[in-house]
Amino acid sequence: MKVLIVYAHPEPKSLNGALRDVAVQELEAQGHEVRVSDLYAMNWRSEVSRSDFPTLDQDSRLRVANASTQGFNANALTEDVQAEQEKLLWADTLILQFPLWWFTMPAILKGWVDRVYACGFAYGTGEHSDKRWGDRYGEGKLEGKRAMLIVTAGGWEEHYSARGINGPIDDLLFPINHGILFYPGYTVLPPFVAYRVDRLDDAGFLAVSSRLRERMRTIATTAPIPYRRQNFGDYVIPTMQLRPELEAPGATGFSIHQGEAA
Ligand code: FAD
Repeated sequence: MKVLIVYAHPEPKSLNGALRDVAVQELEAQGHEVRVSDLYAMNWRSEVSRSDFPTLDQDSRLRVANASTQGFNANALTEDVQAEQEKLLWADTLILQFPLWWFTMPAILKGWVDRVYACGFAYGTGEHSDKRWGDRYGEGKLEGKRAMLIVTAGGWEEHYSARGINGPIDDLLFPINHGILFYPGYTVLPPFVAYRVDRLDDAGFLAVSSRLRERMRTIATTAPIPYRRQNFGDYVIPTMQLRPELEAPGATGFSIHQGEAA
């Protein structure tokens, strides 16, 4: 398999840096080809701006999605963005790796998504009719590829449990797993999360590394999160609401968007 790791941590000697090396070593030991986009090392620019659209007329008002569509269709997006898109098309599997900062990904990684996920590439594709609502949520350019998160968190696992004060980790990661990965077509694997890492000792590092190695060894076979696909009957088009009573009894919130595991 070809695996792309998009890695967001400013310090190479960090725990995240060490875990990235563990992941790369294990994937390569399994015979996979690995590329890493190290966003801080690349000086990745995180904010979307006019400079993303070099062919846009100087005097025209910037409408980001329109400019993005035109830039993408004309092959006129900036080189850094095109290079990341090419890597996404190359990879069978995408890993986003980051420390949890304020309950989500660091800004540099969010900015990678904002800029690389161009209109016509990751969204705004496919037919809109009374039967389909575009190619998204399980369909799209990245369909057929796997994706997963590697996340480190200072908080305890209990703090992220169903009744934990931080909110359930699956809910916090839903906008990334469902909104950023499943949306353009990825099959999404359960995330790898390492909790309570801020004072991790050597024994703790060995335990986390061993768990991560196991996830890397099984990356091609791990059962995905069974998110419901949009255009296959579970949702009413165009309101995009889940049809009544498809959810498991008592299920509420984000979990209703998961169906039966295959
Ligand atoms: P580091 O600081 O690099 O290392 C953590 C520990 O691992 C250190 O004690 C280090 O010695 C040890 N370690 C053990 N083995 C190794 C090794 N081989 N290599 C390197 N280090 C090793 N947490 C939450 O739960 N929720 C939040 O919303 C949240 N928001 C945050 C916001 C900000 C701005 C910041 C700075 C932190 C936040 N945190 C939050 C905590 C954050 O998630 C953790 O600090 C982070 O995940 C730790 O990862 P790191 O790579 O930076 O670890």
